[in-house]
Amino acid sequence: AADGTAPAVSLFDDAPVRRVRVLLPRPLDGAYDYLLPPDMALEPGALVEVPLGRQRLPGAAWTVEPGDSDVPEGKLRPVQRRFDTPPLPEPLRRFVDWVAAYYLAAPGAVLKMCLSVPAALDPPAPRIGYLRAHTDADALGLKLTRARRRVLEVLADGPARTLSELTREAGVSDGVVRGLADAGLLDRVEMGFGRRFEAPDPETPGPTLSEAQRMAADQLCAKVDGDAFSVTLIDGVTGSGKTEVYFEAVIRALAAGRQVLVLLPEIALSAQWLDRFARRFGVEPAVWHSELSQGERRRTWRAIAEGEARVVVGARSALFLPYPELGLIVVDEEHEQAFKQEEGVPYHARDMAVVRARLGGMPAILVSATPSLETMENVRAGRYDRVQLPERHAGALLPEILPIDLRHDRPKPIPGHGTSYLAPSLRAALQETLDRGEQALLFLNRRGYAPLTLCRTCGFRLQCPHCTAWLVEHRLLHQLQCHHCGFAQRPPTKCPDCGDADSFAACGPGVERLGEEVATLFPDARVALMASDTVSGPESAQRFVESVQNHEVDLLIGTQIVAKGNHFPALTLVGVVDADLGLSGGDLRAGERTYQMLHQVAGRAGRAERPGRVLLQTYEPNHEVLRALVDGDRDRFLEVEAEGRKSAGMPPFTRLAALVLSSEDEAAVDQTARALALAAPDREGVEVLGPAPAPLAVLRGRHRRRLLFKTRRDLAPQPILRAWLSQVQVPSKVRLTVDVDPYTF
Ligand code: ADP
Ligand code: ZN
Repeated sequence: AADGTAPAVSLFDDAPVRRVRVLLPRPLDGAYDYLLPPDMALEPGALVEVPLGRQRLPGAAWTVEPGDSDVPEGKLRPVQRRFDTPPLPEPLRRFVDWVAAYYLAAPGAVLKMCLSVPAALDPPAPRIGYLRAHTDADALGLKLTRARRRVLEVLADGPARTLSELTREAGVSDGVVRGLADAGLLDRVEMGFGRRFEAPDPETPGPTLSEAQRMAADQLCAKVDGDAFSVTLIDGVTGSGKTEVYFEAVIRALAAGRQVLVLLPEIALSAQWLDRFARRFGVEPAVWHSELSQGERRRTWRAIAEGEARVVVGARSALFLPYPELGLIVVDEEHEQAFKQEEGVPYHARDMAVVRARLGGMPAILVSATPSLETMENVRAGRYDRVQLPERHAGALLPEILPIDLRHDRPKPIPGHGTSYLAPSLRAALQETLDRGEQALLFLNRRGYAPLTLCRTCGFRLQCPHCTAWLVEHRLLHQLQCHHCGFAQRPPTKCPDCGDADSFAACGPGVERLGEEVATLFPDARVALMASDTVSGPESAQRFVESVQNHEVDLLIGTQIVAKGNHFPALTLVGVVDADLGLSGGDLRAGERTYQMLHQVAGRAGRAERPGRVLLQTYEPNHEVLRALVDGDRDRFLEVEAEGRKSAGMPPFTRLAALVLSSEDEAAVDQTARALALAAPDREGVEVLGPAPAPLAVLRGRHRRRLLFKTRRDLAPQPILRAWLSQVQVPSKVRLTVDVDPYTF
């Protein structure tokens, strides 16, 4: 249509051929042309089913103009059918094209993230449930086995149950239930479509906000009222009540009839957040993450597309859902690495949230106590606004942070136990805390028992057969695991190299080993371990968090997942077992990442009335990161980091793309890497570094090389990259991944 609005009827009434371009959720070059059947009307974004080869695929009508491809009319295949779903909204379609162009990906590969639940495109079939029929078993002459009786007991008083609920609750097979229904003892009934998503009531009263919170909330609400693109950072210390503040903006957007998206870094572990949302709004939000069952995904996708779900809280992939009325995006813990997707189309969800907000003309809110350098640079340059919450809620004090210098305060071996990883002063502090009946957290960002296992006789180290990585012992599982490819094996009894039996020694601590030490030191303390392999999924995380809140645990040992937003009022001591751990990584983001993580862990201490203390075990107490933590001087740290990045000519002061080549054939990968380097663009403001072995030189049996492509900030890297890549033939056995704005560099 000439005025740019979507026509309600067929686009192509006047066109000589009724063609439609359909984008398919596949990494193909562009959209394909199809013939539009005479009785079918499609508006842009309409979801259809089309043939491709022998398959039938879902796809989306993509452009408004009649196709200009050279496929002759006679060869076009017709659109099979139109799905009964709302079309993909226009801002989402522009977003797909934008993401594809920015990350040099096929638009279809991006569309795939929008259509991640093809089954959702068909309206759901009503679920069938079973009820106890008003019939007597004796009258039917039916023999009631134990299993049959259990089914009848489950249904005795309750509502209808689905087949799977019934078999689970009664502990019987499908056949038992079906048999009873066929015999007439159960009635089959339609149960509707599953969960409804209730809209939160914008009138629900919230907590009384502090002066600082009120001011911050007012600013955010003004942005929502303005109904235009903006980005605002909520910059507030841990425990300052940032969540309550952005909840006000959420309410305001809901009251204006808009949908709201809240992105969290690890939705599967956000039990406490969901709890708080439910308390604040009286209903549960729609949740979107990779661990949803197929049924839940279908149901949620449709509820979002139809505007039934008003608030969606999700992992990064929730950015690609078809909200018809989106009016606000919040990115909580915006600095988190989890927002960076590395597989498939690599993208950064925080950055794309900002793009999505711009394309849809709405405010975005970024939230953090330790904002990323990128975001701070945008604040400094005036591109983003900022509201600050410098104090903890209700007068709770920020914890005192002190270093423990391991060079002087050395851990001493424990008689009858062996190596210790806890300095005498940390042991004493733990003892005092436990004696006072308070809780302590020992933080060590290492899963398993020990990061390295070696043979005492010959020095052989157990390594992953597929990766450049040591195998990590997991004693609780009786396994050695590769944390990069998932390879696992039972620990060998003999050294594979020298054949010595029982010669293995564990080197260094993991959380499991720390658990052993703590059990020796504090035999009466109730100890719990929280790591991604001991707590899996939202439910077990919820149980865990509750057990800590109910004070069923005295001493908590955890990896970074304990740091994630949990509020434990009785926790007053945090001991960081190895504060230097993240600093030796060598990449330029190591300092920033370690600072963010330790700050967040420290923020778990003393969140209620009782003051908290944080002890950092380190060999480098003068390191910039540790000094910033101890002095509580975040802004000076960010300045130092920014200076470092500027002088190294690295982001956010330049633009970067990582080109990773991988192949099982090492010679082929080297050859392609050299060819790329030879063809590297030679122009002002552009620099190519490498090739060099990628951070994991071998991963899943594939050899990896990396080139870093760098441009000045004022140059768009994509056209230069495209021109460069078009000159080099990448053999089919070599895979090239382009990672624009890589997280590590
Ligand atoms: P942050 O996200 O900044 O770390 P939270 O939003 O989690 O802080 O707030 C910390 C604690 O203080 C939470 O338990 C929260 O419910 C409570 N809180 C924050 N603001 C208020 C308020 N205005 N009234 C009552 N409780 C509040
Ligand atoms: Zn491996």
